[in-house]
Amino acid sequence: MLKRILLCVLALAALMGLASCRRAAVIPPDAPPVVIEPNPSPDGETPNVPETPETPDVPETPDVPAAPAPHPYPGPDVELVPYNGVVEHLFFHPVVAYPELAFDGDYKEKGIDDYMVTVSEYVKMLQSMYDKGYILVDINDVWSEVVDENGKAKMVRNTLMIPEGKKPLVLSYDDVNYYDYMLKNGFTYKLVIQEGELWSYGLDPKGNPVYSQDLDAVTILDKFVREHPDFSLNGAKGCLSITGYEGILGYRTHTDKNDTSEEAAKRRAQEIEAVKPIIQMLKDTGWTFGCHSWGHINLSSSSTEKIKADTERWFDEVGSLVGPTKIYFYPFGARPDGSDVNQTGPSFKYLQSVGFRVFASVGIDSYSKIKSDISAVICDRMHADGMTLRNQRDRYMKFYDAKEVFDQSRPDYGVSWS
Ligand SMILES: [Zn+2]
Repeated sequence: MLKRILLCVLALAALMGLASCRRAAVIPPDAPPVVIEPNPSPDGETPNVPETPETPDVPETPDVPAAPAPHPYPGPDVELVPYNGVVEHLFFHPVVAYPELAFDGDYKEKGIDDYMVTVSEYVKMLQSMYDKGYILVDINDVWSEVVDENGKAKMVRNTLMIPEGKKPLVLSYDDVNYYDYMLKNGFTYKLVIQEGELWSYGLDPKGNPVYSQDLDAVTILDKFVREHPDFSLNGAKGCLSITGYEGILGYRTHTDKNDTSEEAAKRRAQEIEAVKPIIQMLKDTGWTFGCHSWGHINLSSSSTEKIKADTERWFDEVGSLVGPTKIYFYPFGARPDGSDVNQTGPSFKYLQSVGFRVFASVGIDSYSKIKSDISAVICDRMHADGMTLRNQRDRYMKFYDAKEVFDQSRPDYGVSWS
């Protein structure tokens, strides 16, 4: 893993105004730069009630050597300057590889149009954000946990050291699970390793198997950063926000309490072995992971007991594979306990107690707030999707122009711009 050597926590930074946005807290000037580790995820083995649903007939992932170590940007010749402004945070869902399958008039069409972007839109968005001077940073580098003079843990905003003129950007990707419904609707099927790099596997509209680096959000960004190394600070890519109920990354690693057969257990064990090198390669190439709950549950309408059970299952089935994470992405953007902004309720306290420190919702800007009563950060992410492409051109102009990006193969639901 690349050492993030270019990041520092400066007490001085508080004096410079460490607001990560207009509503964010400010680090006290005496905050000592002691970084402590989050609580580790439970490392338990998965329960013995496994099941794997019918998976597509996918060729074996070939055994290939690991990817060569990337050459991170910036090199020693690039001058770095402290950055304490807003760190923009934009998130995507999986991207539509085949619009003709996604936008075919079936009952999933509208949801896909609302929440996803197509490959052609995604590529244009990345190019635009690069052209506008954004540079990808690791979400785990934006805040640190420190211990104050009273021995109390709290989160502080780090001063990022970035190349002059660049603007830091966090990308996250929700539901990188390759759900069954996606496979039938124009998305890739899974990530695989070939020739020491990540590729996607899937079927084209005629049913032919396709290995590609041009059809999946992960491999497209990997390729873009290979071609534009100065789009990534120290090799950072994005944070993958994953659930557990249909496995992860295209591998059916989840349990099904209705199928406790030996055959299902064997299939599941095979999928777990198959996904391990994918996870490792993602980590080696700048990707990180976050929790999106096991069952994509709505935290605002779930009891703390339900949230506990769901989170434990996520640790068992997902955390045991992807490793510890401090990041929790609320499904549906729904905040626990009614709100996490003005109160810290029992569900939030529970999630914090098992190691989460950064809690991400969805909003109209890259809002963030360091909570004062508990060691945690809450934040909003902007959403690159069909809804904002159609209706929020102005708000997203800082990243890209919807008019230039919009894929004409989308169905005719109208746009607010002309
Ligand atoms: Zn989701």
